[in-house]
Amino acid sequence: MSEALVINRIVRSRRKTVALVVTPEGHLEVRAPQRLSRDQIDAIVAQKANWILKNLERSRKASAAGTTRELAEGARIWYLGSSYPLQVSERGAARVQFSKGLSLPRSALPKAADLLAAWYKNQARLILTERTEFYALQFGLKYRSIRITSARTRWGSCSRLNALSFTWRLAMAPMEIIDYIVIHELAHILQKNHSRAFWAQVERMLPDYRSRRAWLKANGRLLDLSIDADESQLKPIG
Ligand SMILES: [Zn+2]
Repeated sequence: MSEALVINRIVRSRRKTVALVVTPEGHLEVRAPQRLSRDQIDAIVAQKANWILKNLERSRKASAAGTTRELAEGARIWYLGSSYPLQVSERGAARVQFSKGLSLPRSALPKAADLLAAWYKNQARLILTERTEFYALQFGLKYRSIRITSARTRWGSCSRLNALSFTWRLAMAPMEIIDYIVIHELAHILQKNHSRAFWAQVERMLPDYRSRRAWLKANGRLLDLSIDADESQLKPIG
């Protein structure tokens, strides 16, 4: 089971039916009747996941055509919850170097997005493997494998056979958030759904998971190479 799609806004009114809206900014809004529970809303969103993903992708492509930023010197790049200005060196191999900041040789700038993605993927594999092994040991859980994906809207997933997937975009997030996703997916080894029992399990493993989850809902969309943002735009954890 995967982490639910991120709902950016729920608008409640006297309407009787639910409407899902993907905004031009790539946000998912749910317009819902007053008394529909959050679980019911999540269930509807899960049912319509294919439609939502298709429309998010469409909106992403449309906005990419106009507003994708140039990854030039000084562009802010997230890594583990901090944003670093991209540094440009005059020479060097066509790959990302990290020490007190990220840098690329000038000749590699046209391929910056691909090179950064490759670098994040590598970092994500190291970090997520380490964190997953740590928590699996702590909670006595056995997973089958770890795969790093390029998913945009799905932070992680756990298959029926307990194969875990995580998107490399998590390497942009603070460690507290990475740990929340790791624990969330590990909890799916015990509960293959988002039932009350599942969330109770997550809470036993990570008592303050709610604030981390809320952080991800509020800030997750900023963790994207195509968006220029820095710490001042983040809402704090908790
Ligand atoms: Zn989940």
